[in-house]
Amino acid sequence: MNINGKRQMELLNKMSFVRMGGTAEEMAAAEILMEEIRSIGLEPVIEEFEIEDAELVAGQLEVLAPFNKKYVVTAYKLSESTPEEGLVAPFYYAENLTAVDLANCKGKIVLVNGFFNLDMFKKLQKAGAVAFITMSGTMLETEEDSDLFTRTMRDTIRAFGNMPGANIRITDAFEIVAGGATQVKLTAINTPITRTSHNITVTIEGSEKPEEIVSFGGHFDSVEFSKGAHDNAAGSVINMEILRHFAENKPKRTVQVMWYGAEEMGLLGSKAWIKAHEDELKNHLCMINTDMAGVVIGYDVARVIGTKEATAHCDAFMRRKGYNVGVTQEIYSSDSIPFADKGVPAVNFIRFGHHVGGTFIHCRNDLAKFLSEQSIAKTTQFVLDYGIELIESEVFPFERVVPTEMVEKVDKYLAKKELAEAKKDK
Ligand SMILES: [Zn+2]
Repeated sequence: MNINGKRQMELLNKMSFVRMGGTAEEMAAAEILMEEIRSIGLEPVIEEFEIEDAELVAGQLEVLAPFNKKYVVTAYKLSESTPEEGLVAPFYYAENLTAVDLANCKGKIVLVNGFFNLDMFKKLQKAGAVAFITMSGTMLETEEDSDLFTRTMRDTIRAFGNMPGANIRITDAFEIVAGGATQVKLTAINTPITRTSHNITVTIEGSEKPEEIVSFGGHFDSVEFSKGAHDNAAGSVINMEILRHFAENKPKRTVQVMWYGAEEMGLLGSKAWIKAHEDELKNHLCMINTDMAGVVIGYDVARVIGTKEATAHCDAFMRRKGYNVGVTQEIYSSDSIPFADKGVPAVNFIRFGHHVGGTFIHCRNDLAKFLSEQSIAKTTQFVLDYGIELIESEVFPFERVVPTEMVEKVDKYLAKKELAEAKKDK
């Protein structure tokens, strides 16, 4: 079978719409993938799982003094809501969360720089802040050519408590800080709801070693405002082309190809899959994850969550074949993490865009026009060939081991220490 970049881009274009975890649009994308699988003559298995989400009810920040103006904000999903009539408090810009900043936070609605994380939350909670505000976007954006994002209060933060939170455009925050705001009213209300998301799996049984499994995975959901061409319709169509290969060429070991839902909400699809299939994992020898591909301007890397030997094997394979892939032993924030957490080595293939001018993921500019047939076919070729190298080998090239140095990074990523600490406190 020849890899067909044109066919891949056609499928990618078909699923180029916003498809957030647990929505009807995500389900529509799942239907498109399943239709394609059936057209190859295979039968997909679809599994549903429940996810925690929230609906936004109200979001406004009103400056009361020394001037009066209302700004649109989005409430953090799953954060504590303010009263319906709003929360009135002094305003403070805690730009660096220094000791001086924190001494000024008590009883205030606090604007912070950067991504909101557990460390920030703990500091603000201890300092007695009554609500927090984060910023998104860039100073050069106009309202028409940008979107105001919705953030979520992660479970790792909620394990320690909660408070009202909201996100604002950085251009609005600039106006508020420059104007010397002292008193504000925040209205940020959200209602928790349960949604249903889906994973799709196709299994092709191995002809010689059916009990040994190698899987290809990637998420098919996207974030709000994003049509997710680069992240990760590209990985989705790469795995479809790989499935076509193994449908035509029966593998020696069992091949599973998976498309995960709700990755962008915290790897929820792969976590759910692992939970439902834990007893099958002992013979799962490697998970090959593709998350981001297809951009013309960019570069390919492989991040191996496995032993030094597995990393060296992957690197040697790419050199021998002349594939231009930078291989390192490292974790990657994607669906491979829950597998590695259960001892399954994982190899992540990622084609990053140019770090300043060409990375348009998680926004309205993640569009198919920045991708090409040639680029997506090129990545498909080496992901497939690497997979064949593992699946068709006489003896598997490396041990099914996730070494201590990787386990530590995975545990840190999953905030295991913090979650255990929170449990102890309760
Ligand atoms: Zn992704």
